Amino acid sequence: MILAEPADRSPLPEAEAPRDCPLCARLVAFRHECRAEHPAWWNAPVPVFGDPAAWLAIVGLAPGKHGANRTGRPFTGDYAGELLYATLLKFGLAEGEYRADPTDGLRLKGAVILNAVKCLPPQNKTLPHEEANCRRFLMASIASLPALTTFIALGKVAHDSLCRAFELPLAKARFAHGAEHVLPGGKRLIDSYHCSRYNQNTRCLDAAMFEAVFGQALNG
Ligand code: SF4
Repeated sequence: MILAEPADRSPLPEAEAPRDCPLCARLVAFRHECRAEHPAWWNAPVPVFGDPAAWLAIVGLAPGKHGANRTGRPFTGDYAGELLYATLLKFGLAEGEYRADPTDGLRLKGAVILNAVKCLPPQNKTLPHEEANCRRFLMASIASLPALTTFIALGKVAHDSLCRAFELPLAKARFAHGAEHVLPGGKRLIDSYHCSRYNQNTRCLDAAMFEAVFGQALNG
């Protein structure tokens, strides 16, 4: 059984939620269900993964059940992670080999992966009050990354949570794939469709579209 604290696995330990974070009742109940069903899985808030000197933060929605919620590393072990990590490796933002396992030795270079919500939500759908609760950890992570200049938001929930964290009215920053916004303070926010299995299978997002967003971030 894995009982490590999220902070023990994080490059930003001061920004992490505790393993038994009680703030979202619905997600706590689901966490307990998952622990009973799969006691060897991570089943806890998923810590930040990446480089504490990152200039780029990729912000996802929430852990996938068989991905980060199982392995304890963002996007590791599920369909979405295959495209994300392949893209990070292709653009020199990671080094090593991605083997869908947190012990694969993969390292991010200049990049970090955050989530709008750190705990697994039922049906992959978060609720507004859960996004609001978890924003304190997102903001603490951002505050602990002094070299950060650029965000890639994977999907509208991540986009909205970043806008709220920076107090940018949503009406002034509409989500659209490839859209770029300037956050108060000057950091860049670039939107991408989420690299979920659903979006890839429905051809809402393909590898070329995803890579174009990373090219935009690198060339801005
Ligand atoms: S989603 Fe975030 S705020 Fe809610 S219980 Fe998990 S770690 Fe705590």
